[in-house]
Amino acid sequence: MKIDIVSVFPEYFEVLNLSLLGKAQEKGLVEVTAHNLRDWTHDVHHSVDDTPVGGGAGMVMKPEVWSECLDELLHLEPTTVTCDSTADADDTASADAAEPAESATEIAANADTVPATDRPVLIFPNPSAPLFTQQDATELSHANHLLFGCGRYEGYDARIPQYYRAQGVDVREYSIGDYVLNGGEVAVSVMLEAITRLLPGFMGNAASIVEESYTGENALLEHRQYTKPADWRGIKVPDVLLSGDHAKVDRFRRDEALAKTNKLRPDLIEALDCSKLDKADRKTLMALGWEVSGTHPRQR
Ligand code: SAM
Repeated sequence: MKIDIVSVFPEYFEVLNLSLLGKAQEKGLVEVTAHNLRDWTHDVHHSVDDTPVGGGAGMVMKPEVWSECLDELLHLEPTTVTCDSTADADDTASADAAEPAESATEIAANADTVPATDRPVLIFPNPSAPLFTQQDATELSHANHLLFGCGRYEGYDARIPQYYRAQGVDVREYSIGDYVLNGGEVAVSVMLEAITRLLPGFMGNAASIVEESYTGENALLEHRQYTKPADWRGIKVPDVLLSGDHAKVDRFRRDEALAKTNKLRPDLIEALDCSKLDKADRKTLMALGWEVSGTHPRQR
């Protein structure tokens, strides 16, 4: 997977040389290049921002600098597009030469079956965009080329994603949570780690990404984990985990996952497909106050 990151602080991404992502780069699984957006400026101050049109506090990242950079990295020629700047921010903008961008929802629905694609995906972190989820990470792990653009200041000119969508580029904007960071660098690191750990060969033990929180079609929060010693400072691990009875251990963990998800993320329980639940799952959910006779569980 080729990963380009554009930022005014490219040094920030030296951290990606550490740990498993560093090893993945050494193994040639991923190739990460951090670019300095200021390399595409032409003025003595290397300025990438300007005052907001319409007034207001702060500065906004200029489209001209971004487009010179992105055109080069995406191998596109500059052009003029016909876009409605009042259209929904995440609408696929129209242009004469534009291929309609593939629907993110469509791809996400088939995340596990999406073949690797050479079509680059341009991603802008943005606190006012849809939340980045494990499903997005899974889907993006099938792309061969990801290009991230890190916003700073009050953010980037809204026409940048609109223009590249109109050019037929698969453009995504994602928030990593309901809070505001100073820049997109942290958000890109978060997304990158979530995406690259799903690449075949990335994890030492591939099984460790199969049964995790938010993962799979009937996603739950994961059960609690313990290691040795069995008795630590007076707190014992549950006896069943020491029983050696794998079926009982699995059931205990599954019930724990269901109970924990019920308490912390009932929205995930509501999204479960009842036809994929076994008899014991149904019994546990009913004991937790859910009706499981329909397509999805409903709170009683
Ligand atoms: N004025 C923007 C707003 O109120 O929505 C906030 C801009 S923020 C200070 C600057 C940049 O940080 C954004 O353009 C984005 O790239 C990044 N950023 C900040 N918070 C983020 C979040 N929760 N998720 C993703 N990116 C974020």
